[in-house]
Amino acid sequence: MPERGRSSKVLSVASEIFPLIKTGGLADVTGALPAALAALDVEVRTLVPGYPAVLEGFDGAVAATWAGFFGGPARLLRGSRGSLDLFVLDAPHLYARPGNPYLDASGQDWPDNAERFAALSFAATRIGWGEVDAFVPDVIHGHDWQAALVPAYLEFAGDGRRRPATVLTLHNIAFQGQFPAATFSRLGLPERAFVPHGLEYFGDVGFLKAGILLANAVTTVSPSYAHEIVTPDGGMGMDAMLRWRGDALSGIVNGIDIEVWNPATDPHLAMRFDVDALDARAANRYALEERFGLAPGPGPLVCMISRLTTQKGIDLVVEAVDAIVALGARMAVLGSGDTALEEALLEAASRHPARVAVRIGYDEGLSHLLQGGSDAILVPSRFEPCGLTQLYGLRYGCVPVVSRVGGLADTVIDANLASLAAGVATGVQFADVTVDGVVEAMSRLVELHARPDAWRGLQRSGMGSDVSWTQSARLYADLYRRLVP
Ligand code: ADP
Repeated sequence: MPERGRSSKVLSVASEIFPLIKTGGLADVTGALPAALAALDVEVRTLVPGYPAVLEGFDGAVAATWAGFFGGPARLLRGSRGSLDLFVLDAPHLYARPGNPYLDASGQDWPDNAERFAALSFAATRIGWGEVDAFVPDVIHGHDWQAALVPAYLEFAGDGRRRPATVLTLHNIAFQGQFPAATFSRLGLPERAFVPHGLEYFGDVGFLKAGILLANAVTTVSPSYAHEIVTPDGGMGMDAMLRWRGDALSGIVNGIDIEVWNPATDPHLAMRFDVDALDARAANRYALEERFGLAPGPGPLVCMISRLTTQKGIDLVVEAVDAIVALGARMAVLGSGDTALEEALLEAASRHPARVAVRIGYDEGLSHLLQGGSDAILVPSRFEPCGLTQLYGLRYGCVPVVSRVGGLADTVIDANLASLAAGVATGVQFADVTVDGVVEAMSRLVELHARPDAWRGLQRSGMGSDVSWTQSARLYADLYRRLVP
């Protein structure tokens, strides 16, 4: 327990952290939240796996060595990268593999993912037990299924050792970390943990399930998503359990790192700008037109920066492309994901040369230029725990067009007559997440874009929205203090 006036110590546990390793929004959150919490006297150290990308150039001191750690030797390294204080779990037999953290070169899950991330949770648990003098956390804050076994190790393997409070944050309940029952014997837990009030989940092993049941607090990344996941439609099989944990469940909307995402200083832009110099965005639009091979035009240039999956509504966009082009808009898409969707997008683009362009791949710098040069960003997700690209859009005067779900509903104010008159509208929302719904929203966008005053108003209110971590970091700090008074 922290003494009065002493800062609380939080061990954040995650499989990704920006700028070291990132496949999605999780990394942005775990990379930015520690600095925001430091300002509130919460000391955060993050435990991440020692992937090659994390170890490269990392000069950490050895804080612990563990023999026979999930099938091989492991070292816990302690050090920092930029402003991030880290523990890195250096276990080559688990993490010394190229490419994506979760998938092999052919796109299949690594066959030992259960052990790889059980090891991450167990290392966090040992830090929680106080085995590493340098940092004894009051709270262990795990992110997603990869860190969800921490409460289970504390519960079933603790044997009377110290027990920090636990928080589990759900960034996307679609990823549940479910494995065959035979996996259980390799996790180093006693047989009594393979029960419904533990890891057992419909006969399998459920990492996220165990975390949801056993963590002291469960959070998700927006208030609306917290409401959605307790319903059968949104809960992906976990809704009953989440209802049961109702008192422990809350939604805290993500912020963004407003230094990394600052149009006034962004090194990836052709020309920097701020809310008083929005005309400068044109230079970024020209740069995009050149890079994407798009012809200039009077209608809005609409971008997408996304994993290409049905969750993100990419199939809807594929079908809506012809109608969107007919409205006078142009599109620039950056993404990668499902092969069939990648191909369908490329095929749709080939029907509209110079009006629709698609780049398959992952390109952090280009994603900044897209936000700084496009007029709008389309995010037609079927469900969206928080979503970050619409927040970057708000900050960059790139008007978001979003489906009314999850964090998208919570962060964008729809441009209707009342909100436009009051000067608070920041984007376009649509409730009908279908091809027609997307086209109708784009038609509203094109109309707004043709009204320069209304358009500037949308951009300015968006850029004036508080998308920083300040408010949400306070909510996390309050939560930690409630758990460890
Ligand atoms: P999710 O985590 O579900 O993929 P989010 O909107 O929360 O969705 O976060 C996605 C993050 O990944 C954002 O920072 C976005 O800019 C980035 N991103 C997604 N796809 C790409 C890409 N192809 N190139 C660069 N950045 C991308």
